[in-house]
Amino acid sequence: MNFLSVLESKREGHRLSSSQIAELVNEFTAGRIPDYQMAAFLMAVYFRGLNPAETTALTLAMRDSGDKLVFPKDARPLVDKHSTGGVGDKVSLPLAPLLACLGFRVPMISGRGLGITGGTLDKLDSIPGFQTSLRTERIQELVQNVGCVICGQTERMVPADRALYALRDVTATVPSIPLIVSSILSKKLAEGLQALVLDVKFGAAAFMREREQARELAEAMVNLGNECGVKTSALLTNMNSPLGNAAGNWLEVKEAVACLNGDGPPDLQELVIACAAQLLLQTGKAQTASDANKAAADCLATRAPLRKWEEMLAAQGTDMEAYQHKLILDTTAPVSLSLRAPDEGFVARCNGRIIGEIIRDLGGGRKSKTSAIDYDVGIDSLAKPGEPVEKDSVLARVHAPTETLAKEAVQRLQAAFQFQAERPEPAKLIAETIG
Ligand code: URA
Repeated sequence: MNFLSVLESKREGHRLSSSQIAELVNEFTAGRIPDYQMAAFLMAVYFRGLNPAETTALTLAMRDSGDKLVFPKDARPLVDKHSTGGVGDKVSLPLAPLLACLGFRVPMISGRGLGITGGTLDKLDSIPGFQTSLRTERIQELVQNVGCVICGQTERMVPADRALYALRDVTATVPSIPLIVSSILSKKLAEGLQALVLDVKFGAAAFMREREQARELAEAMVNLGNECGVKTSALLTNMNSPLGNAAGNWLEVKEAVACLNGDGPPDLQELVIACAAQLLLQTGKAQTASDANKAAADCLATRAPLRKWEEMLAAQGTDMEAYQHKLILDTTAPVSLSLRAPDEGFVARCNGRIIGEIIRDLGGGRKSKTSAIDYDVGIDSLAKPGEPVEKDSVLARVHAPTETLAKEAVQRLQAAFQFQAERPEPAKLIAETIG
């Protein structure tokens, strides 16, 4: 193909045909378009954009660049959730087994964290023995037999996204809506889903700071998902404060288990139930929002999803004895230190970005793609906006590898909190539903 003329065409803001886009994805994946030319193309897309037809063509070509999951016909619909990422977002962990208990099959292919945003695979890696790297055949087998699997993308799935994302990362072309939409949806479409719910976050600790930007991304993904035959909806959710009361890999697993055990934080439970309810509605398993919410909440309350979670852990290689032992420890980090309230009042703000940055700097997140993770560090017992506090009551507990780092983190953590005398009006967690 004459890639230079395609490049010139996009530079001038012209529309590309579906076949041109398919060919450029194929040629790039096969190594026949050099990175420097593809980098120029990505920058042209960043400035000129792609229209919906071009975005669809790019997504489908990326989806088709490698292996796709194929499942036997079954009465259980294939569903998944994708989150744009935040601090303390452990929704996937309780959601996958809940969905399996609601009669779905869940091939949940997840990612790792980068920067302040946690990744589901990193959280799961804190579980002794748990395997996140599975072959395609094993993923298919576990989805059929257990009902849910949470694992990483195999080497052979969506190779075009792996190569394009790595290039976007080093060419300042990540924040482009058509490129984000095609990257996320190509991976989800390769799972062979019937329905998908997207959790698109906005706020201080989210990829999209403004709700309007998040809405634009959500609408683009919902439209494209539906156009590609996957019933898709999105929840726009508030990510100014962390989700739940704990952030940090192992601490989040503990909180997810608490949610499955009926004593998790209310905001986590609300979002888990809302995601499940959306999928019940989208697949026709429930007719009204209130029926869907009730079915999801009732199922969670039976504790069957907790048993399903344990079944999934065992099937993915967990040393169940070591896991159960770890679960009852108050902390697995060498040092824990609390931040206490300076006075009585109400928490007005608990800034998720500052909290995410502190956890990343304690070693709980990655500064670069190759950074090692410390699974035991994090922050729990977080006081959330609207909570009353007494003078000296605990606002947060830092779990750190050393005394010095713990003290430094507690010092920095003060800036995350603001207080007021009157109880603030609580911000809605789920601001909008799209689709
Ligand atoms: N997550 C993805 O998988 N791709 C993007 O482009 C952005 C977030």
